[in-house]
Amino acid sequence: MKKSPQQRKLERLLQSSKFSASGFMGTDRRGLWEIIDEDAAEIAKRGKTMEEVAARMQQLTDLAEQGLGDWIQVSKNLHVAVDDNRGMIPCPWPHRVRCMKRITTARHIPSNTGVRWSDLNIHLIKEHGFFEGKGSPFRIEPGVLIDIIFSKD
Ligand SMILES: [Zn+2]
Repeated sequence: MKKSPQQRKLERLLQSSKFSASGFMGTDRRGLWEIIDEDAAEIAKRGKTMEEVAARMQQLTDLAEQGLGDWIQVSKNLHVAVDDNRGMIPCPWPHRVRCMKRITTARHIPSNTGVRWSDLNIHLIKEHGFFEGKGSPFRIEPGVLIDIIFSKD
């Protein structure tokens, strides 16, 4: 994909010290658009859309809120919890969006797998299709995420 000047500018912004300190790109050697394209392909392969994934994450965060830090059983094998971090964190895209820092953790009991996300992750996926770079503390693997949050058992 040919990059527009805005895309190049954004990529520089995301790789700048300000954002690398926040770790959005992690240790990923790929460019921003490559990361976004490959994760979009994975989501499409699973028959989902970014909107569906983000909506399910938001729904689980809302359910987890009711537990006030304790685990909530969403279904037989899916448990979620949220921490009570009240800080805010800005979206790295230049549009002045700020999200709560609270962290939602989802655990799938039979497979003993888990995934966690911040409110910013939900925003990044919904609005930018961005799951963060590999090696980032908040990188989410789309396949793992889908297996857990849409688990049928
Ligand atoms: Zn944003």
